[in-house]
Amino acid sequence: MTTLQQPTTGVSRTAVIIAQARAEEHRRPDRLFDDPLAQHFVDTIGWIQVAQAGRMNQEHFVLRTRFFDDYLRSATAAGRRQVVLVAAGLDTRAYRLDWPDGTELFEIDLPGLVAFKQAVLGVQRAEPRCRRSVVRADLRDDWPADLIAAGFDPARPTAWLIEGLLMYLERADNDSLLERVGGLSAPGSAIALEHINQAYVDLPEMRAVHERLKNVGASWHSTVEDPVAWLAGHGWTASVTPQTALAQRHRRPVPRLTDPAIVDDARMWLVSGERP
Ligand code: SAM
Repeated sequence: MTTLQQPTTGVSRTAVIIAQARAEEHRRPDRLFDDPLAQHFVDTIGWIQVAQAGRMNQEHFVLRTRFFDDYLRSATAAGRRQVVLVAAGLDTRAYRLDWPDGTELFEIDLPGLVAFKQAVLGVQRAEPRCRRSVVRADLRDDWPADLIAAGFDPARPTAWLIEGLLMYLERADNDSLLERVGGLSAPGSAIALEHINQAYVDLPEMRAVHERLKNVGASWHSTVEDPVAWLAGHGWTASVTPQTALAQRHRRPVPRLTDPAIVDDARMWLVSGERP
C-alpha cells in the first residue's frame, strides 16, 4: 500500500473527508446507514483534520448520504436498472445497498482516486451487490464515450447521482456536464444532485474551510441560485428537499450551517427529479 498514489491532495482529498464522516456515522448505534468500508479508506490514508465548519458539515454529509441512499432505492424500485455515480469518490453504495436483480452501476471519477479506491476494495476483498463498472475520466472532458465503452446503454432509463461535485467545477463545466447527462438520459431517467448558493459560500463560518480547500487545490468555483430552474432548463422536473425536513424525518439535529434560522438564505441544495 505504501507505493499507492493516495488522494491526499487536490479535489480527490475531499472524498476522504466524506468517507471520514461516513465511517463515524457507521459507528453509531442509531446510524442512518451502514458503511463498513469507509473506515478502511480512512485507515489507509490516516485521519485528515478538518476546519470547525467542516466538522459542522458532518451532520449535513450524513443526512445527505441517507437522502441519496433513499433516492437510489426508490429510483431503482421504480424499475430503473442503470445507475451512474458521477464523481463517485469513495462512495461504497455498490457494496452496501440492496440493489434489485439486474442493476448495473457505473462509477466515474479521476484516475488517481479510482486507483486508490480499487486497491483498498481489493485488499478488503469487497464484493459488490450489483454489477459494478468503474470509469476513469475527468468530468470536464468528453466522458460519455468512456461510459458507453464501459457498457452503459443510453436507451435504458438511468438513475444519476451527482453528489459533492458541482461546487468544485466552473459553471460552464457544470452546464456541459448536465448537457451530456441529458444526452445520455432515456425518458423515465432520474437525477439527484447537491450544490450550493453564493450566500453559503459567503458565510463567515466558511472562511476557514475555503482557506483549507484552497491550500490543497480543491477550491469551490461555482454556485447555483435556483437549482430547480437550472435543471428545468436541462429537461428535468425537480424539487429541493430541505435539511430541516430530513433532520425531522430522521430525528437528528438540523445541521447548523443548513438551518435557515441561523444561516438565513444560505443553502446547500439537495435536489432530486425525473425526466418525463
Ligand atoms: N460523490 C462522492 C461522495 O459523496 O462520497 C465523492 C464526493 S467528493 C466531495 C468529490 C469527488 O469529485 C472526488 O472523488 C473527486 O475526485 C471528484 N472530482 C472532482 N473533480 C472531478 C473531475 N473534474 N472529474 C472527475 N471527478 C472529479
